[in-house]
Amino acid sequence: MKKVLIFGSTGVIGRSTLDVIRRDRNNFKVIGLCVYKNIKLLKEQIDEFEPEYVCVVERNVGESLQTGKGRKLFLGEEGLREFSSVKADISVMAISGVSSLNPLLTTIENVEMVALANKESLVVGGFLVKEQARKFNTKIIPIDSEISALFQLLNLKGRDGLEKVYLTASGGSLLHWEKKDIERAGVKDVLNHPVWKMGKRITVDSATLVNKGFEVVETHYFFDLDYRFIDIIIHKECLMHAMIKFKDNIFFACFYNPDMRIPISFALYYPERRSSIEDFNFFSKPASLSFSPVDYEKFPLLKVILEAAKRGGNSLVVVNACDEVAVDYFLKEKISFYGIFKAVDYIFNLYEYKEVNSLEEIFFWDRWAREKTEEYLRKLC
Ligand code: MG
Repeated sequence: MKKVLIFGSTGVIGRSTLDVIRRDRNNFKVIGLCVYKNIKLLKEQIDEFEPEYVCVVERNVGESLQTGKGRKLFLGEEGLREFSSVKADISVMAISGVSSLNPLLTTIENVEMVALANKESLVVGGFLVKEQARKFNTKIIPIDSEISALFQLLNLKGRDGLEKVYLTASGGSLLHWEKKDIERAGVKDVLNHPVWKMGKRITVDSATLVNKGFEVVETHYFFDLDYRFIDIIIHKECLMHAMIKFKDNIFFACFYNPDMRIPISFALYYPERRSSIEDFNFFSKPASLSFSPVDYEKFPLLKVILEAAKRGGNSLVVVNACDEVAVDYFLKEKISFYGIFKAVDYIFNLYEYKEVNSLEEIFFWDRWAREKTEEYLRKLC
C-alpha cells in the first residue's frame, strides 16, 4: 500500500489523480490533501478519502474548515511547509506556479518518489530540483504527458546512437488561425482547447506555444539533454506524445489516448505496468495522425522561450514571471492576446543577464519581472 500526498488536489491533475486512486484503494492510501482555496471540493475529497493531513494555503479560507476528528489541518505558507515535511511514499506535485518550488524541495527530502506535474519549478529552478533529488535519493517521475512519453521511450530504448527527441504539440486552440486573427483572439477562443481540459494559464500557454517551450526545458533537465537535441513537432490529434530518433534514421514513438490519468497511473504504479482506468479502443472507428513543423512566425513567443532557455541564468525566471502576469491580464480582458507577446518581448529586451544559484536569487528575479511587467501593462491598458 503506497501512501500518497497530493499537492493541488482540487485542480485538474489533482482530481485526475484521485480518480486513479479511487479505482484502486487496495494499492494506494491518500494521507494528505493540499489545496489553495477551493474548500468546497476539498470537503468532499476529505469525506471520500479520509486523509490524515489537510492543508489550505489561503489561510483566511482555511480557518473556517471543519476537518473532523483526529485530522491535522495546516494553514498558510507556514502550513504548506509543514505539510511538505510529512513522510510518504509518493508526493504528487500539482500546485501551479513558482510557489511550488519551496514545497517541492521540502517534499523531496521526505518521500521516496515525486510525481511531478508542475512545470514552473523545473523552468525556473531545474538545477535546484535535480540537486535535491540526487542528495536525498528521491525519484522524480514526470506526469506531463510528453515528458512521461520520453521517459518511457528512453528507458526502453536507451541512448546509444540517439540523435534527437521530439515533443509533440497540439498547436493549441489557434493552430489554424491566420496570424492577423491570432493577434486579436479573445479569451473564449483561446480557452477552447481542442483536446486537453486544463487550467486556464496552461491553456493560454498552449495557444502561444509557451507551454511547449517550457516542456523543452523540462526535457533538458529531466534527461540531461542539450537543447540542440530537442525538437517540437505539431501533431493536433495528441495521440503521439513524444518520439525519439536514432542515427540510423529509425524513430520510436509513444502513443496513448490523451487522458491525463494515463501518465498519472504510469507514475503512481512505477515501475510496475498497471492501470486502474478503463481501456480505450482506438480502432473502433477510422483515425489518422498528422504532423507538421512549427510556424515560428505565427507563434513568436515560443522563439523567445527557447532563446531564454539557451541563455540560462535568470532568463527563464524573468520570462516565466512576465508571461504569468501578462496571461492574467489577458484572462481579465485588460490586454489583447498579442499583448502577452508584447509584454514578454519588452521584458526580454529589458532585463540584464545574471546567474542564479539559489532560491533567493530566483525569487528576486521573479519579483523584479512581475513588478516591471505590471508597470508596463498598466500603461498599455
Ligand atoms: Mg504537456
